[in-house]
Amino acid sequence: MSDIRSIVVLTGAGISAESGIATFRGPGGLWEGHRVEDVCTPEALAHDPDLVHRFYDLRRAALTIAQPNAAHRALARLDAAWPGELLIVTQNVDDLHERAGAKRLLHMHGELRSALCARCGARQSWQGDLPPGTACPTCAAPALRPDIVFFGEMPYDMDRIETALASCDLFVSIGTSGAVYPAAGFVRTARWNGAQTIELNLDPSDGSIHFHESRMGPASTLVPEWVDSVLADV
Ligand code: NAD
Ligand code: ZN
Repeated sequence: MSDIRSIVVLTGAGISAESGIATFRGPGGLWEGHRVEDVCTPEALAHDPDLVHRFYDLRRAALTIAQPNAAHRALARLDAAWPGELLIVTQNVDDLHERAGAKRLLHMHGELRSALCARCGARQSWQGDLPPGTACPTCAAPALRPDIVFFGEMPYDMDRIETALASCDLFVSIGTSGAVYPAAGFVRTARWNGAQTIELNLDPSDGSIHFHESRMGPASTLVPEWVDSVLADV
């Protein structure tokens, strides 16, 4: 690993599964009992704002019980100790990475503990429920919505992510099914630019064939092992 200087880590719902937060496509392809298109699209928000806001209120409330697990803690340890470049890109909307102590972190799909104004675009940290029609503290429009990137919307910080992918030496994907774009394409961008690519996942993802190496198992075991091996050479 001594030739590795710049690392990009991509995480998905699987890294938080052992913290008790359901993954995206659980049994029957549902997210907490809902079809993804009923809670994760701009159309759903327009047609049934009560349902969509309530869905994310429940997910936000669940964060008060969930705790970071050994995988989140290991990535925070890597963040604190790694002397080179590091970017942790999470698709997760929970806050378990930062509560474990990670700093070099981007939430590309938004955050449960944030509210977005549909009128002026201001984002602010948010605790508790967010009913439809809540007034924006910045522009006063009754237009606050969950700060979640829905299907068809542009993920956050894509420029920074693309720049990091273009120059990283190692790309590691953890607990993601490889079914949601653009994140599912990151492995190919990194590999095309010369990075080594490793997948850590419970079972082979849709994108497994694109990785140099795939390790299968629970994130709480695989991630600390991988971090130990990387930091052993520092
Ligand atoms: P996904 O549910 O599609 O895939 C999860 C992957 O994690 C699967 O491949 C599964 O095999 C694997 N996995 C399950 N348990 C694991 C474990 N203990 N250790 C390692 N791997 C495990 O999730 P995704 O690919 O992240 O889908 C992305 C979408 O899901 C994002 O848009 C995200 O915002 C949303 N989401 C987020 C959360 C969260 O914030 N925790 C939860 C559910 C959904
Ligand atoms: Zn506003």
